[in-house]
Order: sequence, then C-alpha cells, then structure tokens
Amino acid sequence: ELADRADGPELPVQQADEPSGHDEPAIDAMIDTGQLRVYYQPIADTLDGSIVSAEALVRWEHPTRGLLAPDRFLPAFARDGSLPTLDRWVLGQACHDLAELRHELGELAPQWVNVNISRASLRTDFDAMISDVLATTGITPGRLRMELPEDADLPALTEVADRLARLGDHGVRFTLDDMGTGATNLRYMSALPIHGFKIDRMFVAGMADSAQDRTIVQLLADLGQRLGLRVTAEGVENPTQLRMLAELGVTYAQGYHISAPLPRQELTEFLTRQPAFSAVSG
Ligand code: C2E
Ligand code: MG
Ligand code: MG
Ligand code: MG
Repeated sequence: ELADRADGPELPVQQADEPSGHDEPAIDAMIDTGQLRVYYQPIADTLDGSIVSAEALVRWEHPTRGLLAPDRFLPAFARDGSLPTLDRWVLGQACHDLAELRHELGELAPQWVNVNISRASLRTDFDAMISDVLATTGITPGRLRMELPEDADLPALTEVADRLARLGDHGVRFTLDDMGTGATNLRYMSALPIHGFKIDRMFVAGMADSAQDRTIVQLLADLGQRLGLRVTAEGVENPTQLRMLAELGVTYAQGYHISAPLPRQELTEFLTRQPAFSAVSG
C-alpha cells in the first residue's frame, strides 16, 4: 500500500529507470521553450498544521515523454556543467513565485521558500548568485531556505562555511537535506552554519514498523533539539507518522500526506483551502 501511495500522487512523473540519452537539448533552450517547470511541495508545522514553506522541485515537461522527475535529467546536467545554471533559474522562479504568492494570498502564503542547491553550485560564486537573485526579485533574505545536498563533497569546506555564514548574516537560512543518508553529515553539522536539517524519508517510512528506524528518528530529533536546529521530516505519508514525529519534537513535516509537489497554480488553490494537518487537532 505504501508503494502505491508513494507513486500515486506523482504518477505522471516517470522514474529513473533508464540512463539519460544524449539527445537532450541544452539547458538554455529548455528554459527558453518553457520545458523546465518548478513544482512546489508544501511544508507544514507539525503542531498547528500551518504551511510554513514550500520546497521548489524542478520537473522537465518533455515534449513527447511527459513530465520527467529530476533524477531523469539532473545527472546529464551534472555531466555537462549546467547545474549552476539550473540552480540559478530555479531560485529565480522560486523567489518570484513566493513574492507573487505573498502579494496574492497575504498571510495564507508560506513564510519561506526552500530551494535546493547542488554541489556544483557550491563550487561557484554561489553567494553572489543568491544575493543577486534576492535583489532582483525583491525577496527578503529571511524568506529563503537553501537546502544543502547530503552528498556534498566540498573541496573547501571552510571557504563554503564562510560564504554561508555571510549569507546567514543577511538572514538566508541553510538546511542540510536528506540527513542520515550521507557519510559526512555529522562533520558538516559542526563545520557549517546550518539552521536545521531534514530527516531523510527512508527513516520516516520505516518508523511505524521498525523499532530501529524509530530509534534513529528519535536520535535525530534529539540531536536537532540539543544543537538548537530546526528538524524537518521528509516523506510523511500518513497521519500516524505525522503524530509520531510531532511527539518526538520534529518541527516540520513534508510528504504526500500533506501534499504532493504541486504546479504553481495548484499551490495557490491548496493554500487557499489551507487544510490543517495538525497532529494535535487531528
Ligand atoms: P529532495 O530535495 O530530497 O526532495 C524530496 C523528494 O522526495 C522529491 O523528489 C519529492 O517529490 C519526493 N517526495 C516528497 N514527499 C514524498 C513522500 O511522501 N513520499 C515519497 N516517496 N517521496 C516524496 P523529486 O522531486 O523527484 O526530487 C528528487 C531530488 O532531486 C530532490 O530530492 C533534490 O535532491 C533534487 N532536486 C529537485 N529539484 C531540484 C532543483 O531545483 N535543484 C537541485 N539542485 N536539485 C533538485
Ligand atoms: Mg531538498
Ligand atoms: Mg531531501
Ligand atoms: Mg530525500
């Protein structure tokens, strides 16, 4: 049942079942022709169910193959060096859309937007890029949450840490993505000025049935609390998981139980309905 649910809400997205071909257009052409799309997955506060943020997730609306998930094309972008271009474009869209949502919906709009940044971008002048996009879109730095990859194998950690800290001084917040799946996470937690981390959905998925996964989630929740970090759980697919996470002190939840990633217009509709996903009130 879980497998069905996991696939259900995003059925049109094909899975990474075959290697990327070499017939893909260059990223600039994909952007120009509107084939790249940003979807948004709402992130809820576990206690009151309010939608605090939304994560920008890129999709490729392929002219013949339909809507493609990022694992179908990000590897090709990584190979040809276009990930920094992608990251910049997604960030620009996300900031633009947040500004628009706040204008349209006021208090019903999310407070923040979460945007993924790739390892390749962290090797560029990403701090200048982020400042530039914020200035262009008029988004307050405090409304931006950048998600750092768990697999980041940063050549100059201290240099990156300095840049993150400078952006942090302006209000940009950094979250470590997919916590628990990478080998270097704990080192990053002390070396990087992060504001929080996201527990990988692998552990959330096992929580109800596996005492071990439950222990790991508990440990990560405690670690976050002791370090003063905001903890988000990924892949929350049912109310039982949401309730358990709230009891363990996990602050935010994201997953199909709250909402699948939505196209921009459907996000507006979702936010207008503002369903409550409170673990407390039901
Ligand atoms: P991520 O940042 O960890 O994003 C969460 C992934 O989990 C998303 O997959 C989302 O659709 C999926 N997901 C969300 N809720 C559930 C759930 O309840 N159950 C299950 N089974 N899955 C859930 P998606 O959109 O395919 O993205 C895959 C990865 O691609 C992302 O993982 C992120 O690392 C990367 N990515 C996506 N968009 C961007 C982007 O704009 N820039 C960069 N650099 N990377 C991106
Ligand atoms: Mg992410
Ligand atoms: Mg993640
Ligand atoms: Mg993940």
